[in-house]
Amino acid sequence: MQHPNDDVLIEIALSHGNHPDAAHLDTCAECRRAVEEFVRAIDATASGPDRLEPASDDVWQRVLAEIDAPVELRTRSQGSAELQPTAPAAPKPRNRRRTLLAVAAALLIGAGIGRLTAGVSDEPTVATTTLARTPLSTLGDAPEELGEADLTRSGSTTQVRIAMNSLPSKGQIVEAWLINKDGRRMISIGFVHGTEPQQFVIDPRLLDEGYVIVDVSREPLDGDPKHSGDSIVRGTLPI
Ligand SMILES: [Zn+2]
Repeated sequence: MQHPNDDVLIEIALSHGNHPDAAHLDTCAECRRAVEEFVRAIDATASGPDRLEPASDDVWQRVLAEIDAPVELRTRSQGSAELQPTAPAAPKPRNRRRTLLAVAAALLIGAGIGRLTAGVSDEPTVATTTLARTPLSTLGDAPEELGEADLTRSGSTTQVRIAMNSLPSKGQIVEAWLINKDGRRMISIGFVHGTEPQQFVIDPRLLDEGYVIVDVSREPLDGDPKHSGDSIVRGTLPI
């Protein structure tokens, strides 16, 4: 049996049955299934958010099963969501894979990346609120601003985000701290690596206790968990 190619099948899906090749579907279950998939994908794009999420999730699972490598979508407001195929990819003709990628692209354009990301991750979109921000500057008489720190809350999660424009580590490991306003107590919140912005989840009770000074220090690999005293930058969160 001669099957219409996928481009024609998409045209049939878009034509609501008025396509000259639509009669083929009466006798071919395989092409009928393919058209139904495309119709569902197109409907999902055209529908409101109520129908979009379950439909797009379903479509995405099929789309992702066609793609060899995992796809990662990043948006500034929502961080990242890794989209992994749940089923092993079955060998399929190349043209079907290409077509599903085209449908995926159409879905992204039609629905918006943010809404699709929310649908796939199955998590409600939680707004991130910035509670405070401080420049991070070198210590001494001529402080130089090398980065900044944000305090954010997203749902019940409180985070310190550190973004450095430059990080003079001098080959040592770099640790992030919250220092108490009393100037004596401090607690490590993790390690900073490179200049990509990094988020550190903290317990908000630290802020109530006065741990509001963000400090980034060079640390020798000597097994000593205490602050080395060699701070690169520091800034006080205005809260
Ligand atoms: Zn067919």
